[in-house]
Amino acid sequence: MTEPRQDAPTFAAGAPQRAAALAAQYGHLQGIELLHAMTLEFPGRIALASSFGTESAVLLHMASTIDPGLPVIFLNTGKLFDETLRYRDDLVARLGLTGVIEAKPSNEWLSEVDPSGRLWRFDPDLCCRIRKVAPMETALKNFDAWITGRKRMHGGQRTGIDPIEIADGRIKINPLADWSRGRIEAYLDREKLPRHPLEAEGFPSIGCVPCTARPQPGSDVRSGRWAGQAKTECGIHLPYLAAAHGESRR
Ligand code: SF4
Repeated sequence: MTEPRQDAPTFAAGAPQRAAALAAQYGHLQGIELLHAMTLEFPGRIALASSFGTESAVLLHMASTIDPGLPVIFLNTGKLFDETLRYRDDLVARLGLTGVIEAKPSNEWLSEVDPSGRLWRFDPDLCCRIRKVAPMETALKNFDAWITGRKRMHGGQRTGIDPIEIADGRIKINPLADWSRGRIEAYLDREKLPRHPLEAEGFPSIGCVPCTARPQPGSDVRSGRWAGQAKTECGIHLPYLAAAHGESRR
């Protein structure tokens, strides 16, 4: 059994240079324009990672208008809300998405490391590693680039993200990096996209059941994730490196 990666990222030959060139050529684009340009740059080698969370419908809708068969990696940790799974099914059907790939943690690892299913209580970093980071790494093996819905407005370590980055040898595209909450809302309304059912119950950011709480009034959108802990990210997006400079931003 191979232990999930814990070492420093490595880079495919030429990837940092390609990321820098893409940033120079396309770094001024946003939203669907950037998404479209990257699908042309990486035909068959780019995937969209989606949690099917509160803001996910925007990118999924954009992807469906470009190519309904675009690979969409959905990470099913085994700890998700039932509402998220139903929302995924609803969006997939409405948007006609045909390329959804479900990434799941290894059963072998779960039975060995988290047989009780309560590892999140004692070692959330290890829990995220076996339920999120390792399955995502496996799913991304077939791709040179991936698309995420991260936004600067989410604060914390996301404040300084760029539209085009590089991490772990793959190019990471953030088409909504500069989007505001208002712009997201306007897009969802204009396209008449359904909302995640838990949004109306006060959850602006939704992950696994044990690690998602309602934020305190006036606090950051993601403050309900791992509430009360120093942890703010699952590890999928750490470390990340600036495309233009190739420097660590941890
Ligand atoms: S978010 Fe919580 S339950 Fe989900 S993988 Fe991470 S620690 Fe485990």
